[in-house]
Amino acid sequence: MNDYTSIPSSGGCRDLPVLKERGQREVFCGLTGIIWLHRKMQDAFFLVVGSRTCAHLLQSAAGVMIFAEPRFGTAILEEKDLAGLADAQEELDREVDQLLSRRPDIRQLFLVGSCPSEVIKLDLARAAERLTQIHAPHVRVLNYSGSGIETTFTEGEDACLASMVPGLAETRERELLIVGALPDVVEDQALGLLNDLGIDRVRTLPARRADDAPEVGPNTVFALTQPFLGETHAALTRRGARHIQAPFPFGEEGTTAWLRAVADEFDVSAETFERVTAAPRARARKAIAAQAAELNGKSVFFFPDSQLELPLARFLTRECGMDAIEVGAPFIHKGLVGPDMDLIAPGPVISEGQDVDLQLDRARAARPDLTVCGLGLANPLEAEGLATKWAIELVFTPVHFYEQAGDLAGLFSRPLRRRERLRLEAAE
Ligand code: SF4
Repeated sequence: MNDYTSIPSSGGCRDLPVLKERGQREVFCGLTGIIWLHRKMQDAFFLVVGSRTCAHLLQSAAGVMIFAEPRFGTAILEEKDLAGLADAQEELDREVDQLLSRRPDIRQLFLVGSCPSEVIKLDLARAAERLTQIHAPHVRVLNYSGSGIETTFTEGEDACLASMVPGLAETRERELLIVGALPDVVEDQALGLLNDLGIDRVRTLPARRADDAPEVGPNTVFALTQPFLGETHAALTRRGARHIQAPFPFGEEGTTAWLRAVADEFDVSAETFERVTAAPRARARKAIAAQAAELNGKSVFFFPDSQLELPLARFLTRECGMDAIEVGAPFIHKGLVGPDMDLIAPGPVISEGQDVDLQLDRARAARPDLTVCGLGLANPLEAEGLATKWAIELVFTPVHFYEQAGDLAGLFSRPLRRRERLRLEAAE
């Protein structure tokens, strides 16, 4: 097990050349974030202003979850809207009125833009302002884009959280803000650890309910739990808050480094830090070791998709003994993922953006033991005999902090086990 403070003796890969590609991309759209955001924000509703395709995407992605009353829906733009024959704004107002009178439990309404609403240039920002004036103070209406034009699927959460920041109340209090939509059970574990460290003024963005929305100001410090929150980072910085830079809390090492950075900010003593983290660290190491035996020495190739690629490459290479061949990320924001890059030993190609055919050629030539990629690439690569992991599962599954570290490693070892079983069956 590595010491989390140790930067590879050859230096990390933060300052090494990055292969930048600007070709055809194979990504999923930002509406996907609604699946986990609507579970997190219990009095929010997400109204996608889009097409039947958008409605189908949401229903099929969320179809396995059963709620008494769904908290997302699609206002479907018909052909006459797209042709500019109807006043879509008026229809939207009518839809929202009906929805809010039927659902008094809704306190935050997000109008979510899509490819069709962007194509006809429907001004959802103006609509949100107008509807807020009508429905305030009970309901606040916000807007963001989840369009699949030029976005990756995790940008939906980023755009949603960033849209909330300008409306947060001002505070002068020194508070810690944890940013990113974690499953409640994982968030509770993190808050428990921070509380045990003696850090008690902690708020979360997003909050579970509108009334618990955090305040923000010049004495707010914030720590991100997801590496794809670049716009939210910028919005919080504009409000005067300061980012605590750290590796992301994946695995034992990442969680410890993340907690350490926060603890240093709040002057937590080394003794307290050790007392609070020793037991969960040991549990995390043991859980990772149980999976790492199958990962050790295996190679991994990341296609750009979730934006979690660099922190996960750090986890897999340093805590699970894997060799990274290529780590592709849709965007590389060094202000966010720089601390993870510092810990990745030079060797893998670090690429930003995509030219999917060229990248497929590189993957086929390298024949990695495991390829992490989007749904659209996984099946063809499996058919070519490569084991794959769907990047989207990394966002749908609880993987942060100590107690989930073993599950995180397990997400990567399972496809290798499956492939090995298939190989043995074929050989019989
Ligand atoms: S890619 Fe565009 S049209 Fe397709 S589901 Fe996403 S937002 Fe809708």
